[in-house]
Amino acid sequence: MSTAAWIVLTLAAVAIVVLGVAPLRRALLSRPLLAWYRGQLPTMSQTEQEAIDAGTVWWDGDLFSGRPDWNKLLAVPKPALTAEEQSFLDNETEQLCAIANDWETTQIYQDLPPHVWQFVKDKGFLGLIIPKRYGGKEFSAYAHSQVIMKLATRCSAAAASVMVPNSLGPAELLLHYGTEEQKNHYLPRLAKGLEIPCFGLTNPNAGSDAAAIPDVGIVCKGTWEDREIVGMRVTWEKRYITLGPISTLLGLAFRLRDPDGLLGNREDVGITCALVPTATPGVNIGRRHNPLNAVFQNGPNWGKDVFMPLDWIIGGPKMAGQGWRMLMECLAAGRSISLPSSATGYAKLAARATGAYARVRSQFKTPIGKFEGIEEPLARIGGNVYMMDSARRMTAGSVDLGEKPSVISAICKYHLTERGRAVVTDAMDIVGGKGICLGPNNWLGRSYQQLPIAITVEGANILTRSLIIFGQGAIRCHPYVLKEMAAAKARDVVAFDRALFGHVRHVIGNKLRAFFGGITGAAFFSAPAGAAPETRAYYRRLSRMSAALAFVADVSMLVLGGSLKRREKISARLGDVLSALYLCSATLKRYEDDGRPAADLPLLHWAMQDALARAATALHGVIVNYPSRVVGLGLRLVVFPLGRPYAPPSDRLGHEVARLLIAPSAARDRLTDGMYLPKSESDPIGCLEAAFEAAPQAEAIEAKLRAAAKAGDIEAASPEDLARAAVAARIITVEEEARLKRFAKLRDEVIRVDHFPQDLGVSEARAPAPQRAAA
Ligand SMILES: Cc1cc2nc3c(=O)[nH]c(=O)nc-3n(C[C@H](O)[C@H](O)[C@H](O)COP(=O)(O)OP(=O)(O)OC[C@H]3O[C@@H](n4cnc5c(N)ncnc54)[C@H](O)[C@@H]3O)c2cc1C
Repeated sequence: MSTAAWIVLTLAAVAIVVLGVAPLRRALLSRPLLAWYRGQLPTMSQTEQEAIDAGTVWWDGDLFSGRPDWNKLLAVPKPALTAEEQSFLDNETEQLCAIANDWETTQIYQDLPPHVWQFVKDKGFLGLIIPKRYGGKEFSAYAHSQVIMKLATRCSAAAASVMVPNSLGPAELLLHYGTEEQKNHYLPRLAKGLEIPCFGLTNPNAGSDAAAIPDVGIVCKGTWEDREIVGMRVTWEKRYITLGPISTLLGLAFRLRDPDGLLGNREDVGITCALVPTATPGVNIGRRHNPLNAVFQNGPNWGKDVFMPLDWIIGGPKMAGQGWRMLMECLAAGRSISLPSSATGYAKLAARATGAYARVRSQFKTPIGKFEGIEEPLARIGGNVYMMDSARRMTAGSVDLGEKPSVISAICKYHLTERGRAVVTDAMDIVGGKGICLGPNNWLGRSYQQLPIAITVEGANILTRSLIIFGQGAIRCHPYVLKEMAAAKARDVVAFDRALFGHVRHVIGNKLRAFFGGITGAAFFSAPAGAAPETRAYYRRLSRMSAALAFVADVSMLVLGGSLKRREKISARLGDVLSALYLCSATLKRYEDDGRPAADLPLLHWAMQDALARAATALHGVIVNYPSRVVGLGLRLVVFPLGRPYAPPSDRLGHEVARLLIAPSAARDRLTDGMYLPKSESDPIGCLEAAFEAAPQAEAIEAKLRAAAKAGDIEAASPEDLARAAVAARIITVEEEARLKRFAKLRDEVIRVDHFPQDLGVSEARAPAPQRAAA
């Protein structure tokens, strides 16, 4: 044996002994590595730590592991409504949709009309999440989501006004952290709409960086109801506060300080949440912002040195300083429901109505939906809505299973609002001038106008993508990183050693899986036995991408360490991969939950192929932009050994999706399930639906007329005369002529665009109701 071989063998033997004998390994490897690791740990403020600790890890943990257990996903129960919840959707929610609409709220009342507000309060819309024992509805997260989604398909102000009290607000905070006394006092009043709540966190100087709020409370003595008590003198300036201008109960976040040590020995007690009745002297409330003409109530509020008792702290004085943790925990659940549901509502309305319009509206003697140019955006609309609704349903269902999915809620918030905006923008392009001219007959323009609000609130989207999805996911969802961090902080060599070597095995395993998946196209990865055969390939591809993500994420944490936090472009793209894996999982799950309807397959294929292509592009973006070229090259060889995989959906597939949107079918009904569908033809959507239903038969009759005219069998100057001549020549029946007439009438109504007097109808709108009726 040569000397070199001896050296290699000896080194291997030493390595086996060191790695195999735990005490030796700990002393020689883990201890020095722990010291190094402590130096690499990113500095984390208390608020960052609380954000990381908030909520739970669910399916995101599987996706991040590189080895998702698909059987676990398929075993998750399908979200379902109780009879009471279904009845509330079919009756109260349906009625609310019937009495509220975007045009009246935005143009005439600049608010929900008084009778609509009363209906909202009387019927318990403000207490959907409040338990029955406090007089609320105690609905599931899924039911709550269905209500918000349905309202969003009709009236954005109604959706926002109902959604806010039921998500991150006083009720949610009270339910989790309130004292019994606070719950007994406020929850029944909130459930009945006797209190209008709002929650004020945002300050002009602290928007996205909300933990930096300068609003302050000083613990001090003061007089309260003729007694001297220890209380707080609070000074704040808030803006953008939804329902603020009409609120009676202001949830307020501020930093509490205790300079005189009246509560203990901490001067900076921390962020604290209190409930402040807005009738308290010194509370200024009432002025409004005008957020893109979305007329839900929203505005600034402020107060200076307002003295209030410590009992107003949510949960009482013992919860002083716990505000950030409370907000982060509630955000994890609330953000899973509110904006994902309203964005899906806007998108469903856009999909259903735009598909119908594309069938009813003809140019060049052809329904515009049949042009290839229009098919492209129609396909994007269909695929996006299918995936959005899948993610909405699965995520709300997870909240009902007791999860508070912090990373998943950020994924849904970001991707469903972004996709919602993309859907509505595509719809606007298809609908053309009819979408641009506002008026009671425009069913799209307000969504287009208002979707940017969803992008901005509850964590502005750029920040959510750049900092939160992967930033939190990498730490929260990783099977070893949190354990390593905890062990390193505690200087616990044994625990660190266990986590570290588990981590090493995990990285090697994912590297091999990613590479093997890359050279075989994941052909030998297993798919769950219970999955539909037509979807199995997708499970394999997702497993491959999961291993690739896990491997690249680990390498990045090792190579870039704490600086990864500042490398937002890398972090955002890794988050895109994690998000695509989640959205794809939800889509596959939905297909199973729906009973594998074959007619939905074009939607499923389009959504999956689009998302997989986006995931591959994002991962490729990470690799080619990697700060170290050598590491980037190494990653590429492991992850994409045969080049970048997964093409976007084909034109043929896009054609099939577009066809689903422009013809009445059960697949179209499933895609837009849960939206408000007015029956009356005097309603713009009711009329569009009627025209759409009538279109296929009318087109067939028109085809007969065209053929007869071309053959010279009939001749006439106008379409009406041609139809009459065709009846006379027995080419069509009298009933067919009547059908044509009805379709023509409906189509004229559908394509009609509103027009107004010189003042755009303001004086008419402001006139008392009887005069309006007369006009
Ligand atoms: C209509 C409306 C209703 C609202 N309702 C409420 C409410 O009821 N209660 C409440 O407390 N707040 C509310 N807000 C505040 C909202 O939730 C956001 O927190 C706030 O709007 C974000 O602050 P900003 O608009 O000042 O944006 P900025 O914080 O100034 O951000 C501007 C841009 O910078 C990006 N950005 C910031 N930091 C980073 C980073 N580190 N990396 C990458 N990008 C970054 C953001 O994504 C954004 O695109 C509401 C806001 C609006 C507009």
